[in-house]
Amino acid sequence: MKPPPFEYVAPSTLDEAVSALTSKDAMVLAGGQSLVPMLNFRLLAPARLVDINRIAGLDYIRDWNQGLRIGTLARHHALETSSLVRERCPILHAAMPLVAHLAIRNRGTIGGSLCHGDPAAELPGLAILLKAEMQTTKRTIAAADFYKGALTTVLEKGEILTEIRVPPLAAGMGWAFEEFALRSGDFAVAAIGALVGAETRIVAIGVSETPIRLRRAEAQSTNITDLDAIVEVAREECSPVSDQHGSAEFRRHLVGVLTKRALTKARERAL
Ligand SMILES: Cc1cc2nc3c(=O)[nH]c(=O)nc-3n(C[C@H](O)[C@H](O)[C@H](O)COP(=O)(O)OP(=O)(O)OC[C@H]3O[C@@H](n4cnc5c(N)ncnc54)[C@H](O)[C@@H]3O)c2cc1C
Repeated sequence: MKPPPFEYVAPSTLDEAVSALTSKDAMVLAGGQSLVPMLNFRLLAPARLVDINRIAGLDYIRDWNQGLRIGTLARHHALETSSLVRERCPILHAAMPLVAHLAIRNRGTIGGSLCHGDPAAELPGLAILLKAEMQTTKRTIAAADFYKGALTTVLEKGEILTEIRVPPLAAGMGWAFEEFALRSGDFAVAAIGALVGAETRIVAIGVSETPIRLRRAEAQSTNITDLDAIVEVAREECSPVSDQHGSAEFRRHLVGVLTKRALTKARERAL
């Protein structure tokens, strides 16, 4: 399949990119690993693509008060191989090899994955779990407020995500990321990220239109140690739907299994 015709522009500054986006029915092109397939399948037909890859200085991974500042164009593979990410945010480091295949990780960007907002993608769920902040050309948005639905964010026309900030975790927090996919490199059928320590946070991926925090299971985890009871709450808390990758009941089962594994590992890692 070939994409529908579009105008292609490759500005060298963010200001130029914003103005190119506001003046036409235009979309940002980052790594192209989700956008180009959607064009080829004719699911989208923007009049203009604004390629942001030639804007210098948007692909950094830096310290941010013991957490991380990540430029929107940082590639998945750069996150996977960054010693700073491994040290500051081991759960992000551990999850990156689960994102697609190496060829896709070489081009795909953190900002592209977050803005695409696939319900089964790892990075949106991790951003919510880690209470990340999204910096755009207009404002700062909490990751928890970034998604309106599947493949839909609160970004407005002409608004570009520029940076993701990940706050440091409290000392001694244990972590785990557990995923089930049909084949290596596929999107998750379901995944669970967990942080345990000063507080418990659990995020479920692939079981609703956007990643969800399992708040009732989190509260249970703070009060009791019986994993089976917590798992039962987690299973009840999500309302998955069936699709070609798995039935709603299978996904609910996965939430239970993956939550148990994630909490077990996170508790073992907590100091
Ligand atoms: C076969 C295959 C398997 C995959 N498996 C997985 C997987 O297991 N897990 C997973 O998470 N992902 C998976 N992906 C998706 C991959 O991770 C993509 O790289 C990612 O979703 C999009 O990043 P990108 O940089 O390529 O963005 P693009 O494809 O360039 O853009 C995606 C969307 O985000 C918008 N956008 C991009 N950057 C910005 C910005 N800075 N500001 C505003 N809007 C922006 C674009 O306009 C577009 O709507 C898979 C892809 C393929 C083709």
